[in-house]
Amino acid sequence: MSKSAKAPAPCSEAEFDVDLFVIGGGSGGIRAARVASGHGAKVMLAEEYRLGGTCVIRGCVPKKLFVYASRFSDSFDEAAEFGWRFSVPHFDWPSLVAAKDREITRLEGLYVTGQQGAGVEVVRSRAVLEDAHTVRLLEDGRRVRARTILIATGAHPELPPFEGIELGITSDGVFDLKTFPRKLVIGGAGYIAMEFAGLFAALGSDVTVVCRGSNVLRGFDEDVRQAVAASYTNRGIKLMFGDSIRRLRRRHTGVGGGDHSGGIDVTTEQGGRLVADQVLLAFGRTPNTTSLGLDRAGVKTGADGAIIVDANSRTNIPNIYAVGDVSNQFNLTPVAIREGHAFADTVFGKKAWQVDYSNVPTAVFSSPEIGTVGLTELEARAQYLAVDVYKVRFRPLKAAVTGDCEARLLKVVVDCESDRILGIHIFADEASEMIQVLAIAVGSGATMKDFMSVMAVHPTVGEEIVAIQTPTVRYDRRDASTPLVPGASV
Ligand code: FAD
Ligand code: NDP
Repeated sequence: MSKSAKAPAPCSEAEFDVDLFVIGGGSGGIRAARVASGHGAKVMLAEEYRLGGTCVIRGCVPKKLFVYASRFSDSFDEAAEFGWRFSVPHFDWPSLVAAKDREITRLEGLYVTGQQGAGVEVVRSRAVLEDAHTVRLLEDGRRVRARTILIATGAHPELPPFEGIELGITSDGVFDLKTFPRKLVIGGAGYIAMEFAGLFAALGSDVTVVCRGSNVLRGFDEDVRQAVAASYTNRGIKLMFGDSIRRLRRRHTGVGGGDHSGGIDVTTEQGGRLVADQVLLAFGRTPNTTSLGLDRAGVKTGADGAIIVDANSRTNIPNIYAVGDVSNQFNLTPVAIREGHAFADTVFGKKAWQVDYSNVPTAVFSSPEIGTVGLTELEARAQYLAVDVYKVRFRPLKAAVTGDCEARLLKVVVDCESDRILGIHIFADEASEMIQVLAIAVGSGATMKDFMSVMAVHPTVGEEIVAIQTPTVRYDRRDASTPLVPGASV
């Protein structure tokens, strides 16, 4: 191994310590390292925190465990309607945090052994680029010469500058709070805000969401946004629209003994005043590209700080690639994993392929859940001449006994001319599970006729989608009498 930085490419093969150096042991980096090693490459991976990355350590996995915990709250109420009798259940936050810790530690261990078993050398260190072929490990100052470098460093919570921001927490800290936040204010109204608002409210927090827009979850289908906002309001979650947090100040008198024992005064731009024992800041995520030595290697980034890549995840420097959140395309775990896999197969496996970003399904783990794939109604109406919208609002069978009045929503957006399904949007229990399967049909070019020809499974929630027979509304720009999307172009 070379002891000092050398001039960048071109280099002879003998100059390289490894075929591939992966910076970042999260979803994308781990998959790429394992697959490349399987193709015979000598691989080294550096992780500065915990192997598994955001998804495993402080994202999808602990979040879903918390969501599971939160759903018992409704289940206890529903069970009583179905004849169960028991004493009032009591929720213990430290027990949930401990159970979550055990599971992510177990998963982290599996990733460590998985990488070792695949022959990947894992180093516990922050890694930075010295030049286009040299990585420096900050832990011990070692320099490693790599033929190919993969940057998979993920992203971190975005923090807009306002007074007292250090009093807030982000999703990084929310999983390890010592005490349960009885009064929680959340800034932002995207994925993280909505998931944590729902789960903390169900666990017993008094939750307020401060949203700068006119509705939550910008970018999702309008009907789904309305449905989830109505549902949250119905469940006692306060949604403040057209407002944002201006200032946080520590209180001197306690409100419920959260981690900040005196509580926090929250002032909003519109002059609103709230009191919280925790303030969760969920304003999006910024790619981890600062202090990474990108300038020394000549790697270009965009205005958002993300590494610019082509369809093969290749940067402007031919031997340097980037996958996952650091390239800020679809910031989802399955996307990062697939990008890492495609990179490894293409560069080391003589099997070139590219990730298909059309019809990426996604879910918001609210309760009920949101599941979505393909175009929203507005996107479809802007892109297609004539669009049929099939919409059904329903109550699941269980609701007949529990008395749950909340309407679930199922919506299918169809191109009139080909009858092809362009998008499906669901707000219902298990929507994440349904959308995973429906995405196969949408990605395979299924038509509405195909759906209608499928026999229902009864009684299920999913049967609603094959039971629909006629469009709720048709938008046809070939026919002047039908409604048009403002600003839509043919
Ligand atoms: P990461 O998983 O973030 O991995 C990057 C790794 O690089 C990290 O471990 C980091 O420590 C390390 N690193 C950074 N810089 C360096 C360096 N210089 N040297 C060494 N190591 C470094 N997605 C879903 O699909 N479903 C969900 O339900 C979901 N829930 C989420 C919930 C939350 C609260 C959050 C925050 C995200 C969630 N996501 C979810 C998004 C998902 O976690 C990310 O899209 C995914 O983890 C991205 O993978 P990645 O490999 O690009 O980055
Ligand atoms: P999102 O981009 O989903 O939402 C960010 C929210 O913050 C939006 O409501 C946005 O408003 C608002 N916002 C941004 N800047 C400001 C500001 N300066 N002042 C006030 N409000 C602001 O980001 P999240 O942090 O919720 O999640 C990050 C990403 O992680 C997601 O986009 C997703 O890719 C991934 N994720 C996926 C999950 C899943 O798959 N279930 C779960 C959690 C995260 P506006 O809409 O007006 O811009």
